[in-house]
Amino acid sequence: MTKGFPSSMTKLIEEFCKMPGLGSRSAERLAFYVLQSPKEKVKSLMQYIAEVKNNVRFCRRCNNLSEKENCLICLDPARDSSKLCVVGGPNGVIAMEKIGTYNGLYHVLLGELSPIDGIGPDELKIDALVRRIKPEDIREIIIATDFTTEGETTALYLAGILRSFSIKVSRLARGVPVGAVLQYADVATIQRAFEERTMV
Ligand SMILES: [Zn+2]
Repeated sequence: MTKGFPSSMTKLIEEFCKMPGLGSRSAERLAFYVLQSPKEKVKSLMQYIAEVKNNVRFCRRCNNLSEKENCLICLDPARDSSKLCVVGGPNGVIAMEKIGTYNGLYHVLLGELSPIDGIGPDELKIDALVRRIKPEDIREIIIATDFTTEGETTALYLAGILRSFSIKVSRLARGVPVGAVLQYADVATIQRAFEERTMV
């Protein structure tokens, strides 16, 4: 596919090819974009990549992405700390924040259950979630994992575990299409799913 390109170009294309969702054509297009961009632009792109790698980590409390020990949502005193919305990844936080009406905190599991891929409960931040309930005086948990097989399996598993706590546990309603990744659902759909969430 990269026959005839100088080797540095080939290497770059091969690296882009390893990125999620990028086929060889997109990888080539990106490599040409780099080649044709002004040096300054490429330099700042490299700087942003380094900054993300060096500065962004997971919030110690909720595992959301953060540049400090705790993320901005956890640090916000205006949020209702008795409510937790459980999402699979940081993208779920972004999706929920888009609806603008949820004012509780989050817990990011950093994945969803997928036995086929060897992802069991121990690979996710489920223990950490359970450990938050009592000390943080959590009264309500809203399960907002994706509506995919993995997300549904995770929701079911969580509902089972959380049943032993005397707290309100709900799951986003079916407004979100089956098979949908929360991140790609539109705001109105997520909002309806949130408002019509069902107790589990
Ligand atoms: Zn946080």
